[in-house]
Amino acid sequence: MIQQSELEKLTQLLSTPKQITIVSHTNPDGDAIGSSLGLYHFLIQNKHNVKVIVPNAFPKFLAWMNDADKVMDYEKQTDDADGFIQTSDIIFMLDFNNASRIDALANPIEKSNAFKILIDHHMQPDIMANIIISDTSACATCQLVFELIDTLGLKHFINTGAAECLYCGIMTDTGSFRFDSTSAKTHKIVAELIDLGVVKSKVHGAVYDTNTLDKLQLVSHCLCNNLHLHHNNKIAVITFDAEEQKKFNMQKGDTEGLVNHGLSINGVLVSGFFTERDGIIKISFRSKGKIDVNAFARKYFEGGGHVNAAGAKSTLSLPDTVQKFIELSAELIP
Ligand code: MN
Repeated sequence: MIQQSELEKLTQLLSTPKQITIVSHTNPDGDAIGSSLGLYHFLIQNKHNVKVIVPNAFPKFLAWMNDADKVMDYEKQTDDADGFIQTSDIIFMLDFNNASRIDALANPIEKSNAFKILIDHHMQPDIMANIIISDTSACATCQLVFELIDTLGLKHFINTGAAECLYCGIMTDTGSFRFDSTSAKTHKIVAELIDLGVVKSKVHGAVYDTNTLDKLQLVSHCLCNNLHLHHNNKIAVITFDAEEQKKFNMQKGDTEGLVNHGLSINGVLVSGFFTERDGIIKISFRSKGKIDVNAFARKYFEGGGHVNAAGAKSTLSLPDTVQKFIELSAELIP
């Protein structure tokens, strides 16, 4: 996972107090915030001055994490964040592998001369860093953060607060431990996190059982009216346009996981969720088995991610984007 020389360099760097920035991707998810705060809790115990900075706000269902209120939102705290990044000795980049995934935050990060460490599990990394820890077989960046701390021989610094964050990222990125990326190693790490004090029902409840009535009505609207099957019921499409977002009082995170409902239908092989955001169409793809939506999203929709889960975008209108997807998705069916 990490070369011996890199390990020695990192050990030496972290042996004295440093100023450290941790950044993760736009529209942060459980793994982005979980890995960032998990690493944060580990580092602050070692007397480092650490800030977690993300490009925009994270959903409310992640706010229970210890010190989540200290995470800086670059959209709202641009000047403070710029100042901290500028004077940082080390920058950890977690759960993304391309500068386009951090939007405006890319500028200060790229300008900085800090020692940069990338820890990520997405395919085809394309970013400058002094140390690149990229493992596409890992189910979550949280797993890689745990393994790195373990390799550094510093596991005793993972307290319950950090363990909860890491557990949350693994839980959300594996669809609660059901995707193929969930390995025996994942379960061994999760077992260690439970031994460190994680209360499973607390984390699951905080993430999955805090829906608002508005959100459930939004989901039910999408499933009743906006879910359609194509190509012999093998391709599912769910849409949610700007007007509907207003009507259903959409909050950040409300459409998270909606795409999985399409994939949960017996016989469906690929599901796509299409919504409008900031004047463009944002897309989530999910697939079953060997069907590679990462390659598909890269080829046709300026996106990427994992074999079975990818994000993408389109500058066409919502109906035109959906039409393009329906036509091209024929090639995904084996
Ligand atoms: Mn992830």
